[in-house]
Amino acid sequence: MLRPVHSRRDSRFDDEAARFRLAYVCEECGHFDPRCDGCAHEWPTALHRRARTLAATADVVFCKEFEAV
Ligand code: SF4
Repeated sequence: MLRPVHSRRDSRFDDEAARFRLAYVCEECGHFDPRCDGCAHEWPTALHRRARTLAATADVVFCKEFEAV
């Protein structure tokens, strides 16, 4: 089973994510299906969605099946 990767979120992460235009949320993934607002591979998306990531959270959860488009 693929387990997500957790990473601490801090100001350095946010700065570098913005500087390098890091894509990592479901809405930026090639497997995201906007028609069903979910993952085409049927993975749970709650921890990887943009809204959750932009909220004030202590960690970022990366999906191992993320695929850049
Ligand atoms: S593969 Fe992972 S990152 Fe991509 S849509 Fe599915 S759950 Fe989200």
